[in-house]
Amino acid sequence: MKRIGFVGLGLMGTGMSKNLLKAGYPVTVWNRTASKMEPLVEAGAKAAGSPREVAENSDVVIDIVTDSPDVEQVLLGPDGVIHGAREGMICIDMSTISPITTREISAKLAEKGVKMLDAPVSGGVIGANNGTLSIMVGGDERVFDECLPIFEAMGKTITRVGGIGDGQVTKAVNQILVGTTMLGVAEALVFAKKAGVDIEKCHAAVSGGAAGSWQLTNNGGRVLRGDMEPGFKIKHYLKDLRIIMETAESIEMPLPATSLVQQMYRGMQAEGLLEKGTQAVSMMVEKLANEKIVG
Ligand code: NAP
Repeated sequence: MKRIGFVGLGLMGTGMSKNLLKAGYPVTVWNRTASKMEPLVEAGAKAAGSPREVAENSDVVIDIVTDSPDVEQVLLGPDGVIHGAREGMICIDMSTISPITTREISAKLAEKGVKMLDAPVSGGVIGANNGTLSIMVGGDERVFDECLPIFEAMGKTITRVGGIGDGQVTKAVNQILVGTTMLGVAEALVFAKKAGVDIEKCHAAVSGGAAGSWQLTNNGGRVLRGDMEPGFKIKHYLKDLRIIMETAESIEMPLPATSLVQQMYRGMQAEGLLEKGTQAVSMMVEKLANEKIVG
């Protein structure tokens, strides 16, 4: 069985690395805040002193950290994975970052004979803990095939979408759909309330038709209950919007709907709502309409 290294034991990485241990893989972990390694060590992992040391003890190194500069830091920085890597080692970045940065990192790793896959995920902390993530993978097909059992220990829907960076592009596509749909849901529900219809009945009526969606059912339902607690936090969504916009810039693609979504979420930042869930965009629409869904 391949020896796995795991860098980044945040909300996502903790559950994902535990699932690798459960599947029987020997796992070496590293986290910047060392205390977060303790539960993993109790579950049977080995703790390393740096990403370099993780690489020295692993055949495949997985990382899931916050943003593009953080991935650069743990993979290429001083004491980064690259310094402990050997020819033939595989590196899988599962963070949500820029596809442009991904391709640059992959080229640097390739100089050392290290193969890279980008494999961002969707499904949140629940999916990470339950091993039911959707994983969107970019990179060489043979490397993907070799790593498939590893992905299967962490996720349920695993799709190789293309070459390196294409996993991140697919995640950006996912986030365009999430945000534009959510803004539509918020606008439609505030419209229903202001027009005076029974909003619960209205929500039920449209959910089963052609306008039905996961966002309408789940986040729309939260909006009706006045529940703004995060499944996915606005502060993380703003990072993803920045990645989408940078990628659009690089391909000279106008994104009129996503731009509007970005401005609405920027407004929520100004309102101090970064810790709320993405459904809280309904609060901005309520302000514009001078109408409240609840109360
Ligand atoms: P998180 O709980 O904030 O954890 C972030 C992890 O990255 C922590 O282990 C943190 O270390 C580490 N880190 C950040 N910057 C670092 C640096 N410069 N050097 C070393 N380590 C660094 O975040 P998360 O929710 O697990 O998210 C991780 C990634 O998954 C993000 O790219 C996010 O967009 C993506 N994602 C998240 C979700 C979700 O629902 N949470 C869903 C899909 C995708 P410390 O412990 O020392 O801070």
